Amino acid sequence: MDYSLLVDAYEKVESTTKRLEMTEILVSLFKGTPAEVIDKVVYLTQGKLYPDYVGIELGVAEKLALRALSIASAIPQEEVESEFKRSGDIGLTAERVLSRGKMRSILDFFSSPPQQAAKKLTVDGVYETLDKVARASGEGSQELKISLITGLLRNSSSKEAKYLLRTITGKLRLGIADMTILDALAIAFCGGKDARPIIERAYNLSSDLGYVAKVVAEKGVGGLSHFKVTVGRPIRPMLAERLTSAEEILEKLGGRCAAEYKYDGERVQAHKSGSGVTLFSRRLENITHHYPDACELISSHVKAEEAIVEAECVAIDPDSGEMRPFQELMHRRRKHGVEQAMKDYPVSLFIFDCLYVEGLDLTCEPYTKRREALAKIVEPGERVMVSESKVIENADELERFFEEAVSEGCEGLVCKSIAPESVYQAGARGWLWIKFKRSYQSKLAEPIDVTVVGAFWGRGKRAGKYGALLCAVYDPDSDTFKTVCKVGSGFTDEDLEKVPEKLKPYIIEHKHARVESRMKADVWFVPGIVIEVIGDEITLSPLHTAGLGALRPDAGLAIRFPRFTGRWRHDKSPEDSTTVRELIDMYRAQLKRIEA
Ligand code: ATP
Repeated sequence: MDYSLLVDAYEKVESTTKRLEMTEILVSLFKGTPAEVIDKVVYLTQGKLYPDYVGIELGVAEKLALRALSIASAIPQEEVESEFKRSGDIGLTAERVLSRGKMRSILDFFSSPPQQAAKKLTVDGVYETLDKVARASGEGSQELKISLITGLLRNSSSKEAKYLLRTITGKLRLGIADMTILDALAIAFCGGKDARPIIERAYNLSSDLGYVAKVVAEKGVGGLSHFKVTVGRPIRPMLAERLTSAEEILEKLGGRCAAEYKYDGERVQAHKSGSGVTLFSRRLENITHHYPDACELISSHVKAEEAIVEAECVAIDPDSGEMRPFQELMHRRRKHGVEQAMKDYPVSLFIFDCLYVEGLDLTCEPYTKRREALAKIVEPGERVMVSESKVIENADELERFFEEAVSEGCEGLVCKSIAPESVYQAGARGWLWIKFKRSYQSKLAEPIDVTVVGAFWGRGKRAGKYGALLCAVYDPDSDTFKTVCKVGSGFTDEDLEKVPEKLKPYIIEHKHARVESRMKADVWFVPGIVIEVIGDEITLSPLHTAGLGALRPDAGLAIRFPRFTGRWRHDKSPEDSTTVRELIDMYRAQLKRIEA
């Protein structure tokens, strides 16, 4: 398959402003893709080579890519670099430089004909080369990368070069969500969107879109029946709904539930096989290297040859052993100095679920069975515990347990169904788990997580910088982002410095196809960065598109006086933002509180 077909599709995706069109473009791309390369096409389209959990990433330094571009185009490095400074976009730089280089070689042709004719780039060829680039390490790897990239650029058209260099530097960012790909696969190979749930389940259990695409392209939907949980492949996490009153929670859960402390740390999914332990984040990245101590704890306290358990990894005060806030775990995210961070910011593990043990897939077992399995395999210690849990049957008891959890340094409770159907719903936010947290500082019961979709230029002290960010919640039904607030306060000077830098890679010329906004931002972004905001309350607003028409015909919902809480939710993807439905529920809960 020619790489140019992929590039044509990227061009179309980039210029569309409609979410549905995006799916259609993918459907025709997938239909025209031979089954044997569809996995590669899926990974490449998301700017990857493998599913995230494999941990092999493209992220070649721009400087190096520019050097390769200079060699391939025979245009001096300074010229290439100044072009890059002008546009700030490695893709556009490649496109412009290469077309200029080509012009020059046409002129040169009359004096000395080129030695070699360019070969057409194929998806296989590009993928293999990029794989070599991603894996090159150690001595001589810089040179190797440059020569591999130069080779690709020599054979590419200027359009191909644009996307190649964006991919190589880890900046493709077309904003195509997993769910859009699942939709497109269902339409392309399974006769329509009705097949989505089956494809989605396979994805939820394997977290590997390329693999799912390949099976479905080769064997149709029937091929997915053999999908099973496998140690080493992360399972997409089950998520909780939220409610703010004890009565409502109990009612939803059938009058009885198991309430567990909601620890404020980082969620980890630990896969143990023999003496090896792999840890995956909530976003399914391989984070084993951030927590060698947590791996050690799992290895010594989980008494099973093979197991998959989920735990909250919490920073603790090395002197008092008390739980510390979530932010302290950010020190673990660095590349170097993890040894020191382990000493300064040690962690404890609170294990709360068991998904697999000794060959048995427990995801279809009810909660109580999974907890029994947990009790059997976990040998508790000072720094490894099974999460605090209590079966609760009335609202007063639930309130008391909630207060106890908060006084112990937790965020609140996660209330879990103990009904026979309380399976582990991989990849889903459902009513089998309901979180109960509350903020006492404002009428808005708790902070919300929003995706940054645009920005407005600041004035006065913030002139020339962003003055406010346009933020959106997620609507899974339409796979779009709907605006809910403009956030300008709560940022420290240090945050303000960081904002443009963090957002720069996401800038696009027009509103992204998956963003619905009535406001016209000065700068638009591909949905990518999630931040936490708190506000005074949720109000009806004609300016915002979140929940538009759900409560009043021409009004959406807005956060009043929104403030950034200081939490960059790097652990969340844009699709993990608060949803429109959650926002509507929060608005209704707020009305009830006010009435009461
Ligand atoms: P939040 O933004 O509140 O952390 P989230 O969107 O990351 O939530 P939810 O499913 O809504 O995830 O809330 C449950 C989260 O709470 C889990 O992802 C997990 O990290 C954390 N947690 C802490 N203690 C528990 C527990 N005992 N059981 C389940 N989850 C727990």
